[in-house]
Amino acid sequence: ASRSDLPGLTILIAAPRGFCAGVDRAIEIVERALEKYGAPVYVRHEIVHNRYVVEGLKAKGAIFVEELDEVPDDAPVVFSAHGVPKAVPAEAERRKLLYVDATCPLVSKVHRQAERLLEKDRHILFIGHRGHPEVIGTMGQVEPGQMTLVETVEDVTNLPFDSEDNLAFLTQTTLSVDDTAEIIRALQERFPSIAAPKAEDICYATSNRQAAVKELAPGSDLVLVIGAPNSSNSLRLVEVAERCGTPARLIQRAQEIQPEWLEGVGTVGLTAGASAPETLVREVVAKLSEWREIEERPILVTEEKMTFKLPRELVD
Ligand code: SF4
Repeated sequence: ASRSDLPGLTILIAAPRGFCAGVDRAIEIVERALEKYGAPVYVRHEIVHNRYVVEGLKAKGAIFVEELDEVPDDAPVVFSAHGVPKAVPAEAERRKLLYVDATCPLVSKVHRQAERLLEKDRHILFIGHRGHPEVIGTMGQVEPGQMTLVETVEDVTNLPFDSEDNLAFLTQTTLSVDDTAEIIRALQERFPSIAAPKAEDICYATSNRQAAVKELAPGSDLVLVIGAPNSSNSLRLVEVAERCGTPARLIQRAQEIQPEWLEGVGTVGLTAGASAPETLVREVVAKLSEWREIEERPILVTEEKMTFKLPRELVD
């Protein structure tokens, strides 16, 4: 069938969506490091979890590695937005490497909270997803045994502590707002004197993107989330849509969209995780418009004005 034979398609497009201030800053750090020090600049771990971004930086001379021992002594290295265990800058210093830390300031804030809690002799329960680099980085701010990972409400039941213990909790920045609230409730029930962070650790970008999906999902037949399978905040957006009862798909690029996904679909919700650039959103809209007459409608829940300062060494 040609485009004109098919019914129109409404695209409810989430706002905010896509890049957050921490991702913007991390990418700019790599770009400025390339300008200032010249290629190659090494980057420990994907600077942000997006293949398109990583490939773009590779083309400009960035080299991505997983561990510091892959970085030669005379090359600059950038640490990713997710944060790193303390051992990583310590090792960089020992080797006298030139390093720039692109850890998002909101992740660093959690790191500092962890330090302060330890000063008060509190044992930290860290709510997060095992294996995610941010979790590895945050747990690596303390000695083994000082922080326990909690992933689920069930984990709370199995914790080997009692209500008299001096406990506190912190969270990963990119969690599901609703799931985390449940886990925190379970923690506070079991340990009534547990210390809570002053302000929520789930970051503004994560909660705003989830709020926008909650607005658009109920009126959509399908929700498309642009993001990588290893991007925590993108995966949470898929879950939020599904919890509203709307089927949702995580895609990295427009070409992954199968025409049959759109059969019987009159309204598509569209959003992008915090590490996905707007180009990829435009690419998806263009793809959909090849098949159907489209109408784009923004669903705005809030405006974001957050920006973060660059590290001093990269500001001229
Ligand atoms: Fe920072 Fe939040 Fe963006 Fe992560 S998602 S980089 S914590 S602003």
